[in-house]
Amino acid sequence: MQIAIDGPAGAGKSTIAKAAAHSCGMIYVDTGAIYRSVAYALIQGGTDTEDTDAVGSALTGIVPSLAFVGGEQHVYVNGEDVSDKIRTPEISMTTSHISAYPCVRAFLLETQRRIARENDVIMDGRDIGTVVLPDADVKIFLTASPECRAKRRYDELIAKGEQVTYEQTLADVIGRDKQDTERETAPLRQADDAVLVDTSDLTLEQSIDAVTELIRRAR
Ligand code: C5P
Repeated sequence: MQIAIDGPAGAGKSTIAKAAAHSCGMIYVDTGAIYRSVAYALIQGGTDTEDTDAVGSALTGIVPSLAFVGGEQHVYVNGEDVSDKIRTPEISMTTSHISAYPCVRAFLLETQRRIARENDVIMDGRDIGTVVLPDADVKIFLTASPECRAKRRYDELIAKGEQVTYEQTLADVIGRDKQDTERETAPLRQADDAVLVDTSDLTLEQSIDAVTELIRRAR
């Protein structure tokens, strides 16, 4: 069983997909975390992320992997658990930037498909329904207004003790949307056969129910 959930930054994909996976007995795979782990490794390795060729060469020394510990996804890069280090605004922007490179997307494509072959998955990202799992059993495009998404992201970052403003968070959300939708390779877009779920006016519980219901109907 393969469920693809795509949508822009801050639409609530990970929280909603995680809860739906739990109630449907499936594994939740956050593909954004895999892209983030690559950005983290590139920054740590001092790679010039503006230089596609440098990024392409550096990829040969980067081994991302996932493990599920008590149902929670942990992401590793070259054996280091980076799950807690990849959520900063700097990593978000660098990830969005390097995700536009075809070499990065090709590098991670097979990793994502292998995980989906080996498990019943709810996989979230930007191109899961369009590129990674074009034959997914259910495709959902989860979105919300930019203001709503920025407010949620801002509250999350503040709760984690990050020093950010709402205005900066909104600018980041809009900037990432632009980068993710306008890139040439695998841009963020709703698959033709995806169901649109707009969570702007839904509570978290209502959003989880809507997604869980779509999955249940397909089983
Ligand atoms: O989902 P998350 O916000 O953690 O993703 C971080 C960035 O990774 C996105 O802005 C996007 O550029 C990239 N990404 C992607 N394709 C995916 C998942 C994430 O390009 N399947």
